[in-house]
Amino acid sequence: MCGIVAYIGEEQAFPIVLKGLKRLEYRGYDSAGIALINKEGLLNYKHKGKVSELEKHTDKKNIDGTIGIGHTRWATHGLPNDVNAHPHLSGNENIALIHNGIIENYDTLKEGLIARGHTFKSETDTEVLVHLVEDIQEHEKVSTAEAVRLALNNVIGAYAIVVMSKDNPNQLIAARKSSPLVVGIGKEGDFYLASDATPIVEYTNEVVYLEDEEIAIVERNKGLRLYNIQNQEKTPYIQELEMQLEALEKGGYEHFMLKEIHEQPRSIKDCFRGRLNVNKGWVGLGGIKDYEQQLATAKRIIFVACGTSWHAALVGEYLFEDLTRIPVEVEYASEFRYRNPIIGEGDIVIAISQSGETADTLAALELAKAKGATILGICNVVGSSISRITHAGSYTHAGPEIGVASTKAFTAQVTVLTIMALAIARKKGTLNEAKFRRIITELELIPEKVAKVLESSDYIESISEIYKDAANALYLGRGNSFPVALEGALKLKEISYIHAEGYPAAEMKHGPIALIDEAMPVFVIATKGQSYEKVVSNIQEVKARKGKVIAIVTEGDKQVKAMADHVIEIPDTDEHLVPLLATIPFQLLSYYIAVMRGCNVDQPRNLAKSVTVE
Ligand code: GLU
Repeated sequence: MCGIVAYIGEEQAFPIVLKGLKRLEYRGYDSAGIALINKEGLLNYKHKGKVSELEKHTDKKNIDGTIGIGHTRWATHGLPNDVNAHPHLSGNENIALIHNGIIENYDTLKEGLIARGHTFKSETDTEVLVHLVEDIQEHEKVSTAEAVRLALNNVIGAYAIVVMSKDNPNQLIAARKSSPLVVGIGKEGDFYLASDATPIVEYTNEVVYLEDEEIAIVERNKGLRLYNIQNQEKTPYIQELEMQLEALEKGGYEHFMLKEIHEQPRSIKDCFRGRLNVNKGWVGLGGIKDYEQQLATAKRIIFVACGTSWHAALVGEYLFEDLTRIPVEVEYASEFRYRNPIIGEGDIVIAISQSGETADTLAALELAKAKGATILGICNVVGSSISRITHAGSYTHAGPEIGVASTKAFTAQVTVLTIMALAIARKKGTLNEAKFRRIITELELIPEKVAKVLESSDYIESISEIYKDAANALYLGRGNSFPVALEGALKLKEISYIHAEGYPAAEMKHGPIALIDEAMPVFVIATKGQSYEKVVSNIQEVKARKGKVIAIVTEGDKQVKAMADHVIEIPDTDEHLVPLLATIPFQLLSYYIAVMRGCNVDQPRNLAKSVTVE
């Protein structure tokens, strides 16, 4: 949510900040803005809509300056319009501030400031913060940096901010709490600040991830200084980035989403590299090695996640319960944290999050940790907040995912969960040698089978053409294909804006069946396995109501083929691994339907990646 970029150095700031905003646009695209300081003073440009709108808006304007801050917004407080766009200025227009997060007590602060004579232009919580900094600076007669520190001591909520002041054009002040912020240390004494490393990677690989309630001051000739909110100086911990620039480009594909769908044979392989050895009959996850014993003896495991990651967790539930016989609960992080969950020592909470920054998931983990539970993480973004606060965890190694609708991150999460379940099951002795060998042999073949499914792209595109104008869609699956149905419906909803619901196939008759008529496409996972016959009956029920059935079946299937309107074949595999294959056609269907409907696939309306607000 919200992308922040800032630069100070010898170069022109505007092009660097603008390019950085484009890289961060997946985090929010309600508006964009850049403020600069040059001989003319503090210039602030902002515009509703995408970064490209801002670019047009600033054409032929004065964009000179070697210090600048920029923001791409995902609105929480106030409409997405020009006035609410960041940067926000203090009343005297000396200070500019960009913010990612929510100032929860903004109303109270605002009342106090209005009483002291402040007037506000926008509806945002952010503008309150910059006025607060100004107010403190004026009354306490302190530096801007000190005023920022004092202001943050009065703030409740989440923030990543960058502040610059006309009074000191050689300095940027940054701070964070619950929202991410990275400082890039450039080679020529220049500095970059950003919500994540993607805008920084082309300039430097030396970064410092700010911790909660840390304030960074970067200054020409003085370098980087780090303080906590109590004003104690800290030593910055410089880390090396491993991200590759090519991973952030579209590589010839029309959209990031399509590129990421097609990357899955590789991302799944990257995910199990070094974690799976079929010849030796071994699986393992280095990151959680020290916790394997505790996992194997756990009385229960709780997964916390949101969105697509929550669907991966549901697949994990099937895997863990079947293979390890450990009871699993899957929780929406946002619900878990607010209902006084019964949790304590001996409990294991595993968080799943692509970005590793999901605010609700992070807060749920903090709660579980405070109650004495062991907390583990499955994240994609290396160095992210979740990966830092957990006791241990495993990265999914899917590479940067830019498309807002998650695809390769999901299959990588399911892959990690599979390996984790297998490793624990072996340790616990709940999985016999033959079954273990069969699953790991099949797991190693998954990347090539995914590639095979991707070969059906043209056929899936032709099916998309038929259903692109549907108003509703139903997705059905049983067992571990039920979460795949949920994920299929979510993908269609979020990028094509068609109302879709995922259901356990047998539940259909308890409600959704009322919706079925000849205009209703019903996407069913009907691969061979223990519920095959039952799903066949469910398909019959749909056909009896004239619904259109698009079924995902195992290669060579005849029975469903004879009943369904369309079948999409996927290669045969072990039943535990079906979600890794069955999800691919749904990703492609959503993608093609969204493109055909003229939707912005990579940046669907109202959504943003990396949900760092509650
Ligand atoms: N609360 C701020 C706004 O609405 C920032 C939102 C965000 O970080 O997503 O402008």
